[in-house]
Amino acid sequence: MVTTRFAPSPTGRLHVGNLRTALLNWLFAKRHGGRFLLRLDDTDPTRCRAEFATAIEDDLAWLGLVPDARFRQSDRLDRYEAALHRLAAQGRTYRCWETPEELELKRRLQLSRGQPPVYDRAALALSEADHARFAAQGRRPHWRFLLKADDPHEWVDLIRGPTRIDPGSVSDPVIRREDGSWLYMLPSVVDDIEFGVTHVIRGEDHVTNTGVQLQIFAALGATPPAFAHAPLLTAADGKLSKRLGSMSVDEFRARGFEPMAIKALLARIGTRHAVEPVCDDAALIEAFDLADLGRAQPRFDEAELAALNARIVHQLPYAAVRDRVPLLEAEWLAVRGNLTTVAEAEAWVPVLRGEVPPPALGPEAEVARAAAELIEDVERLGPESWAELTRRLAERTGRRGRALFRPLRLALTGRESGPDMAALLPLIGRERALARLRRAAA
Ligand code: GLU
Repeated sequence: MVTTRFAPSPTGRLHVGNLRTALLNWLFAKRHGGRFLLRLDDTDPTRCRAEFATAIEDDLAWLGLVPDARFRQSDRLDRYEAALHRLAAQGRTYRCWETPEELELKRRLQLSRGQPPVYDRAALALSEADHARFAAQGRRPHWRFLLKADDPHEWVDLIRGPTRIDPGSVSDPVIRREDGSWLYMLPSVVDDIEFGVTHVIRGEDHVTNTGVQLQIFAALGATPPAFAHAPLLTAADGKLSKRLGSMSVDEFRARGFEPMAIKALLARIGTRHAVEPVCDDAALIEAFDLADLGRAQPRFDEAELAALNARIVHQLPYAAVRDRVPLLEAEWLAVRGNLTTVAEAEAWVPVLRGEVPPPALGPEAEVARAAAELIEDVERLGPESWAELTRRLAERTGRRGRALFRPLRLALTGRESGPDMAALLPLIGRERALARLRRAAA
C-alpha cells in the first residue's frame, strides 16, 4: 500500500514550507488510496519540546491533514541501536573522536586550499590502542557511517527526474553523537523501512541526504522507497525569506484564512496547474500528480493567498460555515460574495437584523422619502422588490445610477457598499426597511 510520512522535528511551529511538505505527502497518499503517517523526529532532547509536538498535531488537524498513524522516534531508540549493530557488523560504521573545534579547523583548512569540506576519514586510521587512549582521556566517540565510493548515489526522482550525487562530495555522515543521541540520518531510514514507507516526499534540501540514505537502505538489506524532492518555497520577491520560515498556522488563523485556501494554494503553486478556488479536498486530491511539480522554486505570495481566500469564501456553502457565523442560510448566501474572510460575516448582523446609523443625506433624502412611500404600498419584500423599487424610484425622482443607488443603500444599510441589494432587501424586511428609510428621510 502506498505509504507516505510527514516527519517534522518538534523544535518549533510548522511554517508554510513544512505545511506544504505535509500537504504533498497527504495528497499523494489520498490520491493513491494509501496511508499518511506522522513521524516526530524528536531524537535531539535539547531542541525538541512536547508542546511543539502537540502544536504540530493541532496545526495538521486544523488543515484537515489527519494522519492515519503517528509515532515518535524517541520511542524507537532500541531499533536504531539494533540497526547500528547491523551496520557495524558489516564494517559500515566507525568511531570518531574529533571535537567540533577540530572538525571546524579541518574544514577551514580544506576550504582555504580550495578543497571540498569533506571529512578526511582520519578516524579510520586509528588503532585499537588509539581508541583506548581517547577513551581513557574521558572522551566519548561519535559514530559515522562509511560511504562506499563504488555504490552510486543515483535514483529517478519523481520530481527531479534522474538524480545523481557525487559520492566524493559528501562526508561520511555522523549518525550518533557523543552523548549517545541519534542524528536524523539513520533513524529516518530505519523508520521508513519498518513502517513500509513507499514514497518519501520532502524538500530539495534533502537531496544529498537521499544519496547517503540509499546506501544505508542497501546496507540494511532493504529496497529503498521512491523519492520526490520538491523545490523549496520562496517569498514573493524570489528569496528564501525569514518571514516565510516564521509564518505559522496561528498567523493564518488570526488573519482569517480558510484551511481550504491554504491547501488550494500550496497544492498548486509550483505546478503546471493554475491556482484556483478549489472548495473541497476531493477535487484537490483528484487532480494531484507529483509529475505536475516543476523544478523552479515556487513563490508564496500572501497577497495571492488573501485573494484566493476571498474567492473561496464567496463559494462556501452554508454547511461549511454554519458553526462559525451568526447568520441564517439565506443571510450567508446574500453576504458571502462581499467578504474576504468568514469572520467578516458578523459585521452584517446589524444590517440584517439590528440597527444601522441613520445617514445624513441632505438633498438626497428625497430618495429615501420616495422609497418609503413606495414600500408602504408593498405587502412583502421579495427577490424582485429591489428591481421594482429602483425602477419606480428612477421614474419618480429622475435620478439614475449612483445618484439613486448610493442614498438608497446608505439609508437601508448605513454603508456605502456591500452585498447585492436585491438579495439583502428581502432579508432586511419591510418593517425594518421602512423604519430606516423614514429615519433617513427625516
Ligand atoms: N525531520 C526531517 C526534516 O524535518 C525529515 C526529513 C525527511 O522527510 O526525511 O527535515
